[in-house]
Amino acid sequence: MSEISDAPVRISEIFGPTIQGEGLLIGLPTVFVRTGGCDYRCSWCDTLHAVDSEYRGDWKPMSSDDIWAEVTRLSGGVPLTVSLSGGNPAIQPLRGLIARGHRENYRFALETQGSIAKDWFAELDYLVLSPKPPSSGMDTDWAALSNCLEAAGHGPKVALKFVIFDDTDYAYARSASARYPHLPVYLQPGNHTPPPPDDDDAIVDIDGVMDRMLWLVDKVSDDRWFDVRVLPQLHVLLWGNKRGV
Ligand code: SF4
Repeated sequence: MSEISDAPVRISEIFGPTIQGEGLLIGLPTVFVRTGGCDYRCSWCDTLHAVDSEYRGDWKPMSSDDIWAEVTRLSGGVPLTVSLSGGNPAIQPLRGLIARGHRENYRFALETQGSIAKDWFAELDYLVLSPKPPSSGMDTDWAALSNCLEAAGHGPKVALKFVIFDDTDYAYARSASARYPHLPVYLQPGNHTPPPPDDDDAIVDIDGVMDRMLWLVDKVSDDRWFDVRVLPQLHVLLWGNKRGV
C-alpha cells in the first residue's frame, strides 16, 4: 500500500449533515467535503465557487486532521457517508482523509468527471464517474475514464452519472453507457441557471427541470432503455442552487 500523504487538501467548503441530492446515494444523509479547483470548465457548472480561480482566495488548505475534526463535529461523531465533491476532488490528496474516516467506520463517496485517476480510488466505498456531455463544452478523454475504473478495481461500488440537457447529451449518455455495460447508469436533467456563488436566494428554472425530467422518462421508455435510472437533483428541487445545504 502507498504511503499515506499528509499534504494539505484545498477545501472550498465542508457542510452538512444534509442529504445526497443525486445519483447512486440520493436521499442518504451525508456530510459534504467540497474541494477547490477543477481541470474542467463546464458551461453550466453549478459549483463555480469551487472551480473558478476568482474564488481561490476562499479555498483553505486543510490537513486531514482538521478536515476530520470538522466532519466529526458536523456528524456528531456518528458514522455516515462522507461525500467528496468539488471541483474535481481527484486533484486533491485524499488518501489520508479516507484512511482516517475508515478507522472510525465512516464511508466515503467521491464524484468526479473521470479525467484524473488516483490509486486511492480503490479505497473509496463509492465512486461516481460523471463524464460531461457535449452541452458542457468539454471533450471526454475515454482513456482517462477507463484509467479511473482500473484504479478503482474491485474496491468501491462504481456508477456512471450523466447530466442531460438535450438530444445530443442523451445520445452521448447512451453510447458512453454502452462502453461500460457492467456499470449502473443514472441520468439527471440539468438545470440551466446557475446563480452567482454568493447568491443565497438562488432560483432555478424548476419548470424547465421537470419538463426535461418528463422528456427523459419518455426517451428511455421509447428506447426500451430499461436498466437505467432517471432521477432529478433532489437538492435543486428543495433548495435551488443554494450553497451549503
Ligand atoms: Fe463544474 Fe464539475 Fe464541470 Fe468541474 S467538472 S467545471 S466541477 S461541472
